[in-house]
Amino acid sequence: MQLPLETEALVVNSPGGEFEMTPIIIQDLRKDEVLVEMKYSGVCHTDFYLQEGSLGGLLEFPAIAGHEGAGIVRAIGANVKDKSLRIGDPVLLSFAACGACGSCRESQFSRCIDFPSLNLSGIRRADGTSPATLSDGRPVRSQFFGQSSFSRISVVHEYCVIKCLYPDDLAIYSPMGCGYQTGAGTVLNVLKPKPDQTVAVFGAGSVGFAAIMAAATIPVKQIIAVDIVYQKLALAKELGATHTIDSSKIGGSIVDEIKNMTGGQGVDFAIDTTGVPSVVEKMLECLIYGGTAASVGAPPPEKISVDVGAFFGGKKSWVSVAEGDSHPPEFIPKLIELHKQGKFPVEKISKVYPVAELKKAISDMKNGTVIKPIIEF
Ligand SMILES: [Zn+2]
Ligand SMILES: [Zn+2]
Repeated sequence: MQLPLETEALVVNSPGGEFEMTPIIIQDLRKDEVLVEMKYSGVCHTDFYLQEGSLGGLLEFPAIAGHEGAGIVRAIGANVKDKSLRIGDPVLLSFAACGACGSCRESQFSRCIDFPSLNLSGIRRADGTSPATLSDGRPVRSQFFGQSSFSRISVVHEYCVIKCLYPDDLAIYSPMGCGYQTGAGTVLNVLKPKPDQTVAVFGAGSVGFAAIMAAATIPVKQIIAVDIVYQKLALAKELGATHTIDSSKIGGSIVDEIKNMTGGQGVDFAIDTTGVPSVVEKMLECLIYGGTAASVGAPPPEKISVDVGAFFGGKKSWVSVAEGDSHPPEFIPKLIELHKQGKFPVEKISKVYPVAELKKAISDMKNGTVIKPIIEF
């Protein structure tokens, strides 16, 4: 493909604006970048944070969202380190990392010291430029999570790119790069429950489902799914939850309910995917002596109420986990392997929509009809 080239992307022009299909021009490809023709992209809540303008001031508009891309390599920068990468390769896209800090050197991309600026600003870290412009020449932020996958063609940071050996499964695997590895990695990389232990998952979105399915691969003794949408809880039971709690029905007594389900003890591990402060409080309360809670969903900058005496006396732990603490080049192939063994049935929680139906995809996601919408270009 010759650059510059004209293509189209779902551009958000200002905070709170719509995702509007807009002509853009891809200006250049640098030595550490890969040009990808997008075939699919998952839709994740963080895309809505971009749209709302609530990413802590790192991102300016106009901007292109999308960070669960899957597509075909169309050009490769001269210094891209993966020398096995070829034009025409099917690839999945994950987040960007610097590749040079202490964490990156130890193959811990999710702990990269530059994670926020690399992933949430939509620009190149080296000089603050963007690879794409609008037709009138104004720059458009087009490296959100190193990829801005809501674009028919995008210039992608090299560390985002993971070769996919299964081109026919690009659609169902596209959310591996964020939502699925976040939930599954929290269980398999961080909490590592044993078969005789118990796990509660608050929020049955794609991250919560990935956590449930991952815990079921071990399998652990009990998996308790908590949500407010009945249909999602029914599906959670099909995919590994041993117990469900409809918190819209029981209100404040979730902790009692979880203790009842676990012989009065509480759970060994609890995961919050909602980021709702009152849910985080419940997550901490429902732990057994020595239990660990993981915050996975991004909460607002608010304070919560914690009984520190009970926390200390209960020998509890509380960790925050980004992207499942995963190193995508190693972890995503592992998840794909689990899927191929029938142990991580992601096709059961996703639905593919033509890109023209993005609005419908988003409303289906928000009302709980679909867990993970995937748009097709
Ligand atoms: Zn995401
Ligand atoms: Zn780094």
